[in-house]
Amino acid sequence: MIYLDCAATTPPFSEAIKAFEEVSLNCFGNPSSLHTVGFAASKVLENARNSILNCLGVSKSHRLIFTSGASEANSLAIKGAAFHYKNRGKRIITSAVEHPSVLKAFEQLGQEFGFEVIELPVNAEGKVEPETLENAMNKETILVSIMAVNNETGSINDLPALLKVVRKFPKALFHSDLTQAIGKVDLPLGDLDMFSFSAHKFGGLKGNGALIYKSHLSFLPLISGGHQEAGLRGGTVDVAGANAMSAALSKTYSLRKEEIARVQGLNAYLKQQLSEIDEASINSPSDASPFVLNFSLLRHKASVVVEALSEKGICVSSVSACNSKGEPASYVLLAMGKTMDEAKNSIRVSFGINSNKGDVDAFITELKVVLEEVNPR
Ligand code: PMP
Repeated sequence: MIYLDCAATTPPFSEAIKAFEEVSLNCFGNPSSLHTVGFAASKVLENARNSILNCLGVSKSHRLIFTSGASEANSLAIKGAAFHYKNRGKRIITSAVEHPSVLKAFEQLGQEFGFEVIELPVNAEGKVEPETLENAMNKETILVSIMAVNNETGSINDLPALLKVVRKFPKALFHSDLTQAIGKVDLPLGDLDMFSFSAHKFGGLKGNGALIYKSHLSFLPLISGGHQEAGLRGGTVDVAGANAMSAALSKTYSLRKEEIARVQGLNAYLKQQLSEIDEASINSPSDASPFVLNFSLLRHKASVVVEALSEKGICVSSVSACNSKGEPASYVLLAMGKTMDEAKNSIRVSFGINSNKGDVDAFITELKVVLEEVNPR
């Protein structure tokens, strides 16, 4: 089996599974319990928290809340901050190509809670122009949420330039969804007010993620409950999962420089191979994250091709995994100005630590076969 869908999820590292197993077997306590078994679990949890903050270089300035993943972390950052700071202003800003966990949170705040929601357009490369953001900002703006790396195209936003705009408005907080960026793209993490990610995108386990935020900030908790996670997220914390996420992040960071360079080579090789297929039109901009390459088929139906590839043991995706049911055209590609035909027929190839040149060769070989076998649309 050739797995080239690492933007959907990565295979977990054995180190992460081991870290999970170790805690589940030997340190199963509730970290809130006031006895030795609880204290031991609490120690593991705090070690994982500190190790993640240290790894990301934000241990002095930021705090971390463990969540069930990036979707929950995005919701907590966006709704939690909007509710907490609602008396400062009502305008909240995001972009048209965010993950649904961001877009829907904004939509809810607008439709049901009276916030003034601005959804910024992107340019042909899928990026928010700093001037577009600047024109949308006003004194009422309390929150801006713009992703670092797009999950469908790998387009990278210029976060330093966007942050510079936001800083002209002292009441506005800047949140970024870093789910496709952690360990893959270098970013000014220490300058961000809040950022979110999911462990399973970098070798950790599904059901674990985090919101990291500047120490002076607060949120309205979305999950009410006990005093866990500084009172900002009720519920007994998944200590084993947190430990696995910490192990996965350490490994990702230790390999990151070589991996980025290696995957850049793979991406360039894939692009060169695709250039021999005349109906493949590349959608990812040339400076996108090397971990994602998105292209459209100009003559065949992408969903049929992806299914046929799957039958041949090749796993890639069409549209994004989160939207494939009921919404067949990519809203990300439409926002970039692609045609409806292109937006309905995109394929995403995404790399991870196990991806290699042989995978690309197998993908290209089978793609050529499938394009011969399957009727054009
Ligand atoms: N944001 C982005 C950019 C993503 O790619 C994803 C996963 N598809 C998420 C958020 C949500 O992650 P999770 O499903 O792990 O909560």
